[in-house]
Parts: sequence; C-alpha cells; structure tokens
Amino acid sequence: MSSTALPIDNAPAASVGQGASEHSPAGPDIGSLLRSVDAAAVSHGKSSPEQRAAGAAEQHRLVEGRLGMASSLFTALRCKHPSTADHSLRVAISCSAWAAALEMPDKLRTHLEAAALLHDVGKIGVPDIVLNKPGRLTDIELEIIDSSREASRHILWAAGAPDEIVEGVAAASAWFDGTHRSVSLKGDQTPFVARMIAIVDAFDSMTTDQVYRPARSRERAIATLYEQAGTQFDPDLVQSFCDLFTQDQSQLEADVSARWLGSVSGIRMPWKHTHRESVTPTEAAPVGEGDLFTAKLIDNMHDAVVFIDSQRVITQWNTGAEKLTGVGASAALGKALTPSLLDMASSSGNLIDDIACPIKKALSDGLQALERISVMGRNGQSVTVDMHIIPVSSTGRPGHFVGAAVMMHDVSSEASLEERCQALHAEMTKDPMTQVANRGEFDRMLAAFVEAHLDTDLRCSLIMADIDHFKSINDTFGHQAGDEAIMTFANLMKSMCRAGDLVARYGGEEFAILCADCNNATAAKRADAIRKKLSETPHSYLGGKQITASFGVTELQPGDTPETLLRRSDRALLQAKDQGRNQVVQLGDGMQTDNASKAGWGGIGKWFLGSITGGSGALIETRLVTNVPIELAVDKLRGFIADRDAEIVKTSENYIRLITEEAAAGGNRRDADQAISFVVEIELTQTHIERVNNSGLAAGKYVHTYANVKIQPRRDRDRSKAKVVDRARKLLSSLQAYLMAKEATVESEPTT
Ligand code: GH3
Ligand code: MG
Ligand code: MG
Repeated sequence: MSSTALPIDNAPAASVGQGASEHSPAGPDIGSLLRSVDAAAVSHGKSSPEQRAAGAAEQHRLVEGRLGMASSLFTALRCKHPSTADHSLRVAISCSAWAAALEMPDKLRTHLEAAALLHDVGKIGVPDIVLNKPGRLTDIELEIIDSSREASRHILWAAGAPDEIVEGVAAASAWFDGTHRSVSLKGDQTPFVARMIAIVDAFDSMTTDQVYRPARSRERAIATLYEQAGTQFDPDLVQSFCDLFTQDQSQLEADVSARWLGSVSGIRMPWKHTHRESVTPTEAAPVGEGDLFTAKLIDNMHDAVVFIDSQRVITQWNTGAEKLTGVGASAALGKALTPSLLDMASSSGNLIDDIACPIKKALSDGLQALERISVMGRNGQSVTVDMHIIPVSSTGRPGHFVGAAVMMHDVSSEASLEERCQALHAEMTKDPMTQVANRGEFDRMLAAFVEAHLDTDLRCSLIMADIDHFKSINDTFGHQAGDEAIMTFANLMKSMCRAGDLVARYGGEEFAILCADCNNATAAKRADAIRKKLSETPHSYLGGKQITASFGVTELQPGDTPETLLRRSDRALLQAKDQGRNQVVQLGDGMQTDNASKAGWGGIGKWFLGSITGGSGALIETRLVTNVPIELAVDKLRGFIADRDAEIVKTSENYIRLITEEAAAGGNRRDADQAISFVVEIELTQTHIERVNNSGLAAGKYVHTYANVKIQPRRDRDRSKAKVVDRARKLLSSLQAYLMAKEATVESEPTT
C-alpha cells in the first residue's frame, strides 16, 4: 500500500479493469496460463454477465485444481474484490513455476501454491473504501490492511487448513531483516514458502496498475527487488527469482500448465472433496486427503454455502446458511432451493418469481452467476447478500450439469463496516460540539490547500475569527450559554460558506475558514457578511442580546507556507481586536493578477552571482522596487519577519540581516523537503522620482523604496542541495509579495 514504512508495496491487486489486460505477467513468462488470468480479469470490466461468468469460470477451473473445496474461499475473495483474486492467482502460478525451477518437493510446492492463492483471503474483511482508496492510506487504514494478514491466518486456521499453509500465509509479510512493523520473524525463521510469496507478491504489485499508482516496468521492479534484498527480501531468493527470467520459459510453462490444468496424475491436494458419491460440485475434482478438513472448512465459513442437485434439491446446508437464514440444516436438506424458500427479492425489492430464479437459470445455462439479492434473515428482516451460483458439470461429460454450489455472502455487514469506518473518520476529523472540522483536520487541510493552490495558481484565502469578550459571556450567562453561542457561531459560518470551503474550530471560541478559489477581497466581504449577521442576531440564551466577533483575513501569496499564511491571518485578527473588535482586518497582497512575481524569474539569472556548488557569494542578489514609502516598507518587512518567525541577527539604520528556516510549501516533512536555513540581507533606500506626462509637463513626485536583497544558505553544505535555488526563489518571491515590490529594472531606476 502507499505506506511510508514499506518501500515495496505488498499491495492488493490491480484496480479493476484498469490496464489489467496489458500488464506484464507476474513472474517469468509462463504465457498462456497468465493470459487466462488476464482474460478473466478483463471480464470484470465488461458489462455482459455472460463474459463475467465465463471469466469467473475460467479462474475457478484453475483454482479448483489446486484448492479443491477450499476454492470456495477463493471464490469468496473474488466476489469481494476481483482484482485481489486475480493478483493472488498470478502470484500462485508464478510461485508454482518458480517451485518447478527449484525442483521443489511436491508437497511443499502444493502448500506454496495454496498459500499463495489464499495469502490475501483476509482482505474479505477490509472495507471497500480502504481497498479502493486511490490516495495515501492513513495510519488506521494501514492497520486495517495489516490486520487482514491476521484475518487470513484466522480464516485458514478456522477452516482447518494444514499448519504449513496457515503459517506460510501469516508470515508472508515478514521482512527478511525482521523489521516489519507487525511481523517480527527474521531470516530463516520465516518459512521458505512465505519468503518466496513475499517476493512474487511484491513483484506482481509493482508491475500492475494499482488504484494509487500506475504499474512500474519489470526492470524497475527487478531493480527494486535487488535494492531491498537483505532488508525486505531474502537475498538468495531474490537472486533465484530474478534468474528465472533467463531460464527456458517453454519448459516452465509446460510444467506449470500440466500441473494447473490437471494433466499430471497423482498430484496430492492439500485437501480433498466430500460427498463424491453425491451430486455436488466436488465431483469433478481429484481425490486427496482430508475429508475432515473439507467438512470443517465448509462449516466454519462465515458465508452460507449450499449444495444442490440438478433439481435444486438441497444436499448440503452449512452453519453459515443456518446463521444467515435461521433455517436449520435438518429443515433445509431435501427441500428445493427456490426463491420462495428464502423470500428472495431483487435489489429493487421485488420478490423473485420462480420463473426468473437465477439458480434455475444458471443450472440450465451452465454459467456461473453473481447476483445481489435479499433473502429473509433469521430475525425476520431481509438481508442483502451477494449470491454466487457455480454450476458443476459431471466428470467426463462437459455440458451436463449435475448440480451447483450456491454461496451467499452477507453484504449488509460489509456496508455497516464501511459505515463504521466513515463514522470513525468523522469522529477523528470533527469537533464534537460544533460538528465543524477540528484542529487536526484543519492543520492537515491547510497544508493540502496551500500546496494545491500554489501548484495550480488558484487563489485561496484564510479567515480567522474569534468571538469578542467571550469570557464575560461565560461569566454573565454561564458556560452552557457560552457553548450555545459557540455552536450558533459555527452554524452561522457553515451556512454562509460555499461547498468547497472548510470551517474549522481552531480552539475555544476561535474559528478558521479556508476559502477555496477565493481572493482577499471576496474573503473579506464574506467575513464582513458573517460579522454583520452575527452582530444583528439576538440570542434567547443570552437574554435576547447579540454577540460580536473579530475577523482576520489574508490571501495565499507567492512564497507562502502554511505557517506564514496562518500567522498572517492571525496578525490580522489581532489587529482587528486591537482596533476595537467587531471588525474585519485584511492583510497581505495575495496573488498578483499580472503575475509579476512569475515574470520576474527571468530577471534572477542576471543577479545570480554565487555558484550553487561552491564559493561564498550570494545565491540570489537582486534589487526590488516598491511604490510605498520606506516607513510602510519597514512595516511590511516586520510582517514578513513575524510570519516566518525569522531571527534578526543584525540591524543598522536601513539595513537588516535575518536568518529564516524555509520548509516546503505544503508543510511536508519528508527528507527531501527538510527546511533549509537562509541568511537574508535587506537594505532599504527611498527615492523621489519626478514623472512627466506625455506633453513633457511635470506630472507629480513619486516615492519609491528600493530594497537591495541578498539571499544565501546559512550553511555552505546546503549550497549543493537540489532544492536550495527553488527555496531561495520562493523566499524572494514571498519577500516581494510582502513588500508589494517588483524587480527593479534600468528604466525604473531614478534618473537623478
Ligand atoms: P477577546 O475579545 O479578546 O477575544 O476576549 P475573550 O474574552 O473572548 O478572549 P479570551 O481568550 O480571553 O477568553 C476566551 C474564553 O473562552 C476563555 C475560556 O474559558 C472560554 N472558552 C474556551 N472554550 C470554551 C468552550 O468550549 N465553551 C465555553 N463556554 N467557553 C469556552
Ligand atoms: Mg475571544
Ligand atoms: Mg480566544
């Protein structure tokens, strides 16, 4: 997943339909089998139910040969998340080919294949919003993904799978050096099959499109495996896996095809089928050991598993079916599985007529079917299920269907898990009292807002608001009334903002509003409208009195970081308080419409004296000009210094030297984005320029303030950092915005 801890993502599979048809095979090029996985994968994206059913049948054919009855677990995974099932099948086939090349003993190879097929079965319990999330996962979501490995272990254990398979699956996320965050196994403590699966799993994830990133090339993926050999992966096995690509592929393909398509006799399955004499889906599969396993497996499955014969007569009814429907096995066995038996209804809520019975249809067509329907649950309430019907043909008589397996997966619980996840998200991001965003959410959103708006050159503004004399409201009317006032104010702000804006409780009676795509002027107007409305609204809990609030407004401007934007709006708010409260103060220049700051970049080249890689000259040395008098320029400079929390190291009459730490705009704290410390020297001078009009007459005297600016990294070793020039430019850009200055050109220099 898009975790920061995992350099390589042992991720769920490719996103549905997205490039699944053109991705490269998971491992060595054992073409035809992997292509049949792809064909099935492509079918997820197609609209025709026949194509989907054919794709599923193709996969089922491959999987059933390896897993026997445990293929129902795989089917459940496929119902839940088809692309994870595709991924698992590719991983299993590649592992099988690798095992052939290693001349692995048959029993171990069988365990490897089964463990690979089911290594992600625990994803059944992961909410879809997590599995399909395109962006970076939160810590909680990562925990959910991590816990799915444990769920895989539990499902397999409960189903009575052999220990080798259970342990192989549980250990497949271990890191070779023992540093995985949730699995502490190290080196050969991790079972051999698990170390193999880890490599193929990562390789397949890297070379397939994921919802959160496109597929990487094979070369890149192999290079990454080598890079992580010894840390994440067993180095000998990485070497062995990569050697596969230079082996005779036709040999491998012949071996794997023969095995997976069942033409090799005497393969010992890790489990076998029951009821061979009865008309059940097990009939077509080979015989092996472990009747007990199968019986336990079916009974322990959470889903309802029902076997019927060609007349739809129920021959097996597991505990899952009892739990889902409230109908005991003794009552169900021998009855026909018709829609009326379970009050089946379509997703639109209409009862399904026997003529339209999907089970009957699947039996007569011989095609698998997947339908979302509702059945009568054990509490007398209808339960939404995904019903998967798998017709079974008789051995040696293709086209003759002897019965079907019907699985019903309760999706209402999944839906409620999703709801719970959403509720949890709301709980973590909302302030419980006012139901607006909380401080944590605001901090996250502010960083994202700043980054996105700077990237796209769109304008955005920040309003800070604080209720006036709130202490005396508490003192006079009580804390409860104070709470009411806070809630009323929050609701007022929410009601007066646009859909894309974020209202957040910054703390106590202080709020922040992030206004997307909005300039200084519009934000100030909006703040004033809120101010006015609040000051005019009487509140019953305050004995019919009104309250007021003060507002600070600022717009994002070039060179800003989340901190500078926040500090500037806070300064504006303080100013509003100082100036008498119940008012809006706006600070900052915002983005310039003429894009002057951008146009100015061309000019930096000529002021660029120091070498980036050495020397002690300034990185940027330039001259700015602003149309404000020197006193105002000094005042603006104060804002620049305060908002950056810069340290003043030297001042003389018109000269100042500062030290400031410059982080990335988005407030990102990754290594590459670590702050760089700069020394900034500014010397201000004021001139008066006389202008003449077109007729050559004196048109007035203009004040200009010039600023000679030098910027250099504080530490010499920072000169070689890739981001140093970029950061220095952003810093200059910010200074320009504060001073509302542009670069001085020869024409703008005073003539006298
Ligand atoms: P100013 O106009 O300068 O903002 O004055 P003020 O009294 O509003 O500001 P100050 O920051 O001095 O006091 C804020 C008070 O708000 C202090 C604190 O007890 C109260 N407060 C903070 N959170 C809550 C809350 O959730 N409910 C209530 N009722 N009071 C709160
Ligand atoms: Mg206050
Ligand atoms: Mg306050």
